[in-house]
Amino acid sequence: MKNIKDYNLEELKEEVKLLGEKPFRAEQIFKWIFDVKVKNFDEMTNISTELREKLKQNYDICNYDIVRKLESTDGTKKYLFGLNDGNAIESVLMEYHFGKTVCVSSQVGCKMGCKFCASTGIPFVRSLSSGEIVQQVIAIEQDTSSKVSNIVFMGIGEPFDNYDNVINAVKILNNPKGINMGARHISISTCGVVPRIYDFANENVQCTLSISLHSSNDKVRSSMMPINSAYNIEELMKACKYYIQKTNKRISFEYALSKDNNDNLKDADELIRLLKGMLCHVNLIPINKIENGKYTKSSLENIMKFRDYLNDHGITATIRRELGSDIDAACGQLRRKNLKDRK
Ligand code: SAH
Repeated sequence: MKNIKDYNLEELKEEVKLLGEKPFRAEQIFKWIFDVKVKNFDEMTNISTELREKLKQNYDICNYDIVRKLESTDGTKKYLFGLNDGNAIESVLMEYHFGKTVCVSSQVGCKMGCKFCASTGIPFVRSLSSGEIVQQVIAIEQDTSSKVSNIVFMGIGEPFDNYDNVINAVKILNNPKGINMGARHISISTCGVVPRIYDFANENVQCTLSISLHSSNDKVRSSMMPINSAYNIEELMKACKYYIQKTNKRISFEYALSKDNNDNLKDADELIRLLKGMLCHVNLIPINKIENGKYTKSSLENIMKFRDYLNDHGITATIRRELGSDIDAACGQLRRKNLKDRK
């Protein structure tokens, strides 16, 4: 059955037309789904019972079961949601001083194979639809009776390997008649799918772009991230510069520091040379060690040195606060555990 949450408002108008209804009905339905966030069609009280029946026959409203929920002492909540087809996805709610941020998944599993990531080694199943992406935010708002202020596409999956659905999800999230999430409050993170960075630069969506860089050296980056063998750092930087020139927006580069791998001041020097003069920001992440992983976290002392060195040389860098470490909030760990437990 079709998922009614997959449609942006313009598309929903077309759907409603197919049911023989006036376009303004689409606006009403859209508001019920994405603003009021009802869990079933019968709650749509200004819609005739006849149309509600038609909707029920043709569409699923896409609610999620909470398969598991873990709560950290720092307020971070990690959800494992059950999808209609029996698959499960992870989403994380983080509390910051500026509000609540939800980290959404874009796929069930990931094909990218980054060596440090917990999603690697467990099977890729499929991409999520737009509605399935948006529903993560709705389900968390319903569960916590609160409003989410920021969304980051940093959960499981590669957003630019599911480009169309991710862009459509952003359009749905943006719409003032629904969730009304300003584009500046949405970040998309990619491991570096270069052709999609060009597409994204040409797209009329204003959200923030994050690039998972992790090394400024092709040899080290390829050893960490297979995507670097398809699109190397030079090609990646060319695309990033095009994006900046086209959108006049700052890129955020993510750099996960691991001991003796990419955390030396010599690595910082290389990074400075690579990013010099670009409109950007570096987000340093203490790498999270995964089960059987070969990368271990840099010491806090090294991380601070690395940050100060970048800042002293004109590259703005901050260290990402670690949240939810007591509940393994990082990267794919809950889905991984769940699959294991089921075996
Ligand atoms: N596929 C996208 C988004 C998902 S990962 C991407 O690659 O950007 C979100 C971020 O977490 C990325 O920067 C990713 O490199 C990082 N990450 C993944 N595993 C990690 C780990 N074990 N420790 C620290 N950061 C990790």
